[in-house]
Amino acid sequence: MKKIGILFGILVLCTTIFGETKKYETDIVIIGAGGAGMTAAIEAFDAGANVILLEKMAFPGGNTVRSKGGLNAAETSTQKEMKITDSVKDFYEDTMKGGKNINDPEVVKYFTENSAETVEWLKGIGMDLNDVGAGAGAKNPRMHRPTGGISIGGVLVKTLAGNVEKRNITVLYRTEAQSLVINDGKVEGVKAKDLVRNEDLEISSKAVVIATGGFAANEELYTKYRKDLKGFITTNHPGADGSGIVMAEKAGAELVDMEYIQTNPTVEQSKAEVISESVRGNGAIFVNKKGVRFISEMETRDKLSAVILEQPEEYVYIIFDQGLRERMKAVEEMDQIGILITGKDLKELAGKISVEPKVLEDSVAKWNGYVKNGKDEEFGRTTGMKFVLEKGPFYAIPVAPGVHHTMGGIKINSKTEVLGKDNKAIKGLYAAGEVTGGVHGANRLGGNAVADIIIFGRQAAKQSVEYIGKDKLMGNKNVGKSETAVKVNPELKAQYKDGTYKATAKGHNGDITVEVIVKDGFIDSIKAVESKETEMIFKGVENEMIPAMIYNQTSDVDMVTGATVSSRAVRSAVKKALKN
Ligand code: ADP
Repeated sequence: MKKIGILFGILVLCTTIFGETKKYETDIVIIGAGGAGMTAAIEAFDAGANVILLEKMAFPGGNTVRSKGGLNAAETSTQKEMKITDSVKDFYEDTMKGGKNINDPEVVKYFTENSAETVEWLKGIGMDLNDVGAGAGAKNPRMHRPTGGISIGGVLVKTLAGNVEKRNITVLYRTEAQSLVINDGKVEGVKAKDLVRNEDLEISSKAVVIATGGFAANEELYTKYRKDLKGFITTNHPGADGSGIVMAEKAGAELVDMEYIQTNPTVEQSKAEVISESVRGNGAIFVNKKGVRFISEMETRDKLSAVILEQPEEYVYIIFDQGLRERMKAVEEMDQIGILITGKDLKELAGKISVEPKVLEDSVAKWNGYVKNGKDEEFGRTTGMKFVLEKGPFYAIPVAPGVHHTMGGIKINSKTEVLGKDNKAIKGLYAAGEVTGGVHGANRLGGNAVADIIIFGRQAAKQSVEYIGKDKLMGNKNVGKSETAVKVNPELKAQYKDGTYKATAKGHNGDITVEVIVKDGFIDSIKAVESKETEMIFKGVENEMIPAMIYNQTSDVDMVTGATVSSRAVRSAVKKALKN
């Protein structure tokens, strides 16, 4: 297949082979094809720069693809259309207050003042941000998200990746940046490794943007700053290992707020699925492995996390009834991904979670008494006490804390220049997104992470271009056609017969029919031509699983967290199609 070979023969680049190391040259190297990196690449390209984007995974998206909420912005056209009153001042104050006032004021000022324009920019490149909702810690509704309030991550990554591809921006997938090249105090490139071929690469450039995301998937690194997080699982993708932070630190960068790490106390461990606190707010309780309550379920996240880890086997169950399920649509999604344990009554449920039935029944009866009297005599809970737990079937979800977001990271100023220990900018080095610290202070508000990656991803590109000087850019005029994704693992051989094949399998809401196109012996595309699955859940399958199937040329790839039923159906439909 032609496309495979193009990856390392990208025409735009001066590619010379000196011994084992391949050498490339460009204006700006951007490390990481998540939200911040792809944004920076688009903005830099549109300003006339030549760009190489490095991504160690096989496809783009990073943690951005997993983001559920939306993008915070104030004084936007969407808010005006919806007659929502908001101000940059309120946005600034909310962000500082949420961050316990240790955020960098200058960075937050730029962040809040440039949010509305960022929404326009995103809309201009085709992003749907037509819905605005309320977020915790925000005075006014400002969380912008796609129509119908669906999760923003999948839609955003698809939009950004589509724009990167449309511009023929060079992306080297499965290529890991390992160190920065520094000459006379200026950052002038990146040393990297092609993980598929185990080859070294050296890319010379005039500027480098680090957009490698956070470090919530690197236990060794986060426990260095927070010993109490030992043993927590992560809600993050495996690429969130903090390698960008390590690289910047070696180049003399200052790190800030590294100890501020957001944990979520209620993560279902097999799927790393966060169970929102709104389930408890709606009346659910916790019991431990002995079947008894042990804390007010509405305590702060940090306290809950600590106390859950003190319970037998270091995990607990969220318990609720059919009444709650009928009040909360989100429970249907939990069922769809297979994390609900169900019992027709409390006795049956107790049997399924290996808890003494009498103890569980007593715990729930006691709780119902507190609800009726409006007083939790044991743990003093005061909210989420409107409904008793009495209508079968009953449900349980096992949960334990998970590491969710890292607020700290590389110190930057509002120009996204990376600052050294002397607080001076390191020449030629920029950083944006979760890899940086200062925007969120001690605590991130929901909706501020997505705003952060887009606002500062663009700023990093603009500042890099200004630093290089427009007249010094290699520019894109000589850009040849470059391949934008490693669609297929270059080590694989052609194994299928050309043609278009269709097959069907049963999903959660009905049949899913897939169409598999084989070209030159390789799976070239996989599309769901018929599906009734919940759009929000199916996005994960489209964005994570299908690219993985094409890369590995097999239906046998990992299922998507949070979409087990749809994943299994697509896997079996593709398998059937390939058999043909
Ligand atoms: P952000 O939200 O800040 O954009 P994401 O987690 O969405 O962060 O994206 C960061 C991306 O950077 C991920 O796709 C991750 O795989 C990639 N990445 C991390 N470290 C490296 C590295 N050393 N080289 C190349 N890519 C990297």
